[in-house]
Amino acid sequence: PTYIIIILIISRLISTIGNSKPSNILVPHKLLTLDIGARLHLDPAAIKSASSDYGNIFKENPVAVLYPSSTEDIVALVKAAYNSSVPFKIAAKGRGHSVRGQAMADGGVVVEMMALKNYRNGNGITVGSGFYADVAGEQLWIDVLNATLEHGLAPASWTDYLYLTVGGTLSNAGISGQTFRYGKGELMTCSALKNSELFYAALGGLGQFGIITRARIALEPAPKRVKWVRMLYSDFSSFSRDQEYLISMNGRRQKQALDYLEGTLIMDQGSLDNWRSSFFPPSDHLKIISQVKTHAIIYCLEVAKYYDDHTQSTLHKELQTLFKGLSYLPGFMFEKDVSYVEFLNRVRSGELKLESQGLWEVPHPWLNLFLPKSRISDFNKGVFRDIVLKRNITTGPVLVYPMNRNKWDDRMSAVIPDEDVFYTVGFLHSSGFDEWEAFDDQNKEILKFCENAGIKVKQYLPYHRNKEEWIKHFGSKWNTFAQRKAHFDPKMILSPGQRIFNNI
Ligand code: FAD
Repeated sequence: PTYIIIILIISRLISTIGNSKPSNILVPHKLLTLDIGARLHLDPAAIKSASSDYGNIFKENPVAVLYPSSTEDIVALVKAAYNSSVPFKIAAKGRGHSVRGQAMADGGVVVEMMALKNYRNGNGITVGSGFYADVAGEQLWIDVLNATLEHGLAPASWTDYLYLTVGGTLSNAGISGQTFRYGKGELMTCSALKNSELFYAALGGLGQFGIITRARIALEPAPKRVKWVRMLYSDFSSFSRDQEYLISMNGRRQKQALDYLEGTLIMDQGSLDNWRSSFFPPSDHLKIISQVKTHAIIYCLEVAKYYDDHTQSTLHKELQTLFKGLSYLPGFMFEKDVSYVEFLNRVRSGELKLESQGLWEVPHPWLNLFLPKSRISDFNKGVFRDIVLKRNITTGPVLVYPMNRNKWDDRMSAVIPDEDVFYTVGFLHSSGFDEWEAFDDQNKEILKFCENAGIKVKQYLPYHRNKEEWIKHFGSKWNTFAQRKAHFDPKMILSPGQRIFNNI
């Protein structure tokens, strides 16, 4: 089975071994007298880098930034916070690829997890003799991929973008086009104490319960190549029906099953090729654009099937069987044949291109939602065809694809809709520095529409402003979430940027 063991540093455990004499102010002066003092940075450059994120909308200054040289450094910091009479806040920061300050600690201490990479001496990723890798929390998925491929293995489930840390991703859940088939794994226990309560709490736990320093990731034999296909639809119900049909074929031994499925909108405002990947042959651009002009929105179904030397001969037939009866626009199926690494790392080239034009570090007023399948067509009418087309500002990818609920373990903190199949919709906006509020208004209008229409959406990578909103977000999971917080982080030290237990 796919499983993950995570090792966390939690504040409650540490309290039992900590200094029992409380002090009044520990940030930053007392901290500087501790062993970790030398790794605490108070200079403007360090503060600046820990006070912003990929979203480029929030700015919150920590008092100090810890560049840990070992997990013991983090233990010492958490211990100090816990034993301070005025406990200070701590946020682990992975790559800071959150969009609303989630990895910040206003007036507290940010832990730059990636600093640990410099001290791992090759121990950041260890591929075990079973089908697993033990991976340090600060490692990037691209490094996990490169290390496991050396053994001919790779994780089964991914994020679209590989330059995210393992700890930051597990704290949210981590989704992509493979999720319909694998979910996020059937999970085992926290390795240190075999504490399953903590384990489930931490997965999708938004950094509230501990700092993930290691995770065991299940591996599979890595394929060599990928057949990557996009099909275009003008009719939303055909598009979503075909998506749902394809993800229903998901048995792990079902030979025909696809390995990846997502979907996007193509609209007049957006370019055909965006940072998530350039795909369509230039010679076909005109005919695609003409469809977009006619229908205002074209829905693009995107799938992938992995193959190898020994599966190559049956690939074509399997795909033919799978695609039989699909209702995409005739003549609008496009194919690519790429290496496995090229496929998984597909977002990188777009990132580098935007970076070189200074367009990667602009505000990103993103909105990511999960919504029940039964209301996806209402969402299409009310949001895609009404709000989005009327406002006419959407830039960047808009993702739409379904997942199977039975691949998610309900004991995790992550929150999903209560239907067997649910969709993720991601508005991955980029905006000018003085324009992000217009996108935010659109996001608010979308959420309002859902509320008025009774569409029970849940935010992924959630941003909520007050306790009432968080209680609503967690729904029936709120009591467990709050009890676990009281148990594992009773002084509410960790991950204040999520604004769940502070600012309320
Ligand atoms: P950060 O943003 O640094 O931290 C996120 C949260 O986790 C914070 O609350 C932080 O305190 C906490 N945290 C960080 N490290 C740890 C740790 N070691 N232990 C405990 N808590 C920790 N997400 C997907 O699921 N699928 C995708 O395909 C995907 N694609 C993306 C593409 C891009 C270009 C970007 C910018 C983001 C994408 N994301 C995707 C979102 C991403 O997964 C989340 O933003 C994730 O949190 C980023 O990881 P990070 O390492 O930058 O975490």
